[in-house]
Amino acid sequence: VMVDAARLPVKSRSLRQRGRLRTPGGVHSNVRLAGPQRFIEYAQGPWLFDVDGQNYVDYLLGQGPNFLGHAPPALVDTVNEACKRGLIYGGQHKLEVEAAEVVCEALGWADMVRFGVSGTESVQAALRLARAATGRTKVVRFEGHYHGWLDNVLMADGATGWGVASAGQVAGHLDDFFLLPWNDIDRLADTLAWQGDKIAAVIMEPIMINAGVIEPKPGYLETVRSLCDEYGVVLIFDEVISGFRLGLSGAAGRYGVIPDLATYGKAMAGGWPVSALAGRAELMALFGTGKVNHSGTFNGSVMATAATHATVSFLRDHQPYDSIAEHGRALMDGLREIGTRHGLPLRVQGLPMAFHVSFGDGDVTDYRSLQQLNLARYTSLAASLVEHGLWVAGRGVWYVSAAHGADELEAALTRFDKTLTDWA
Ligand code: PMP
Repeated sequence: VMVDAARLPVKSRSLRQRGRLRTPGGVHSNVRLAGPQRFIEYAQGPWLFDVDGQNYVDYLLGQGPNFLGHAPPALVDTVNEACKRGLIYGGQHKLEVEAAEVVCEALGWADMVRFGVSGTESVQAALRLARAATGRTKVVRFEGHYHGWLDNVLMADGATGWGVASAGQVAGHLDDFFLLPWNDIDRLADTLAWQGDKIAAVIMEPIMINAGVIEPKPGYLETVRSLCDEYGVVLIFDEVISGFRLGLSGAAGRYGVIPDLATYGKAMAGGWPVSALAGRAELMALFGTGKVNHSGTFNGSVMATAATHATVSFLRDHQPYDSIAEHGRALMDGLREIGTRHGLPLRVQGLPMAFHVSFGDGDVTDYRSLQQLNLARYTSLAASLVEHGLWVAGRGVWYVSAAHGADELEAALTRFDKTLTDWA
């Protein structure tokens, strides 16, 4: 846990105590057990304001969704307006069609889309569709890649033995997966040569953002693509984090490798709970025949489709990607420079819109090499960063939004510098 409760400011401490009486751990997502524990009063643009009167520059973005900043007026107004006509009809409406069009056109490669509520669900839909399409059950996945919290995808990391990660999880549900190191093309080639005719899908984060923000090696994704074609395996990119963040067409567009199916969420709807499974028509059409089930009371709601339509249209029309990258690069350079000045082996790696901060050095290309860094030392620093007004996650990933500008950059670097001074 990232926080010493006794050090929390008084109002957050008292709300936390109260919350914990009615909500296990005081949080509604276990990820937040390790979070900052401070209660937020409101958020605007790239800033959060807590109940004790402290402000924070936000580089957590709600674990990724607030890619346009908090409460972006264009989005909030559009969604509010749409909701006045009701939220869910149990039938079709025009915004669903428009949102699906705008998403497919932005992605460029995808013919069809099904909306969901969480990334976790859309991943399940992708796995089911791949299995239905191929008539096979096995799936290849990779060390350190996160695909949601359900029984068949949640995995403990190597330190505790690559198995179930939670009490109550049915271990047998992991049996249909081959777990491989990522960025190692030979291991994938061997596995496909051995079991290719039983493998329905290969699923991966095309850039491993959840663990270390590690990019694919040059040529890796291309070879994964051609191996999948050779063995008739469905290639699924889990772009829940990278989608719409690395560019309108996500990691697929950035690296120029097209999957058969891809999952989206987070940045796609600017903070509203919406996910999507997108893909090639031959596969996606199987849902439409009714043979492959994908359902959900809240799928394609007015709120979800209005938010998706407004966010993706905004990204398309305003193309904030260059200015986000500029902020991110300056921030990464600034953090490195401050680390050096304090004589610390601070390591900043990744892309300007999503990067990873840790201590240590060496060549980090996969989950195992990431573990050689001193990640715990950064987690301890992160607790102190929060106290100094930087809203960051303990696991080291920083996200930059379209709302971050020169003022936030200056505040962030000043606060980071001060933290290192006080932390030593
Ligand atoms: N896939 C990836 C790559 C993710 O990062 C996440 C969430 N962090 C998920 C799936 C699950 O999404 P959700 O939390 O919306 O269920």
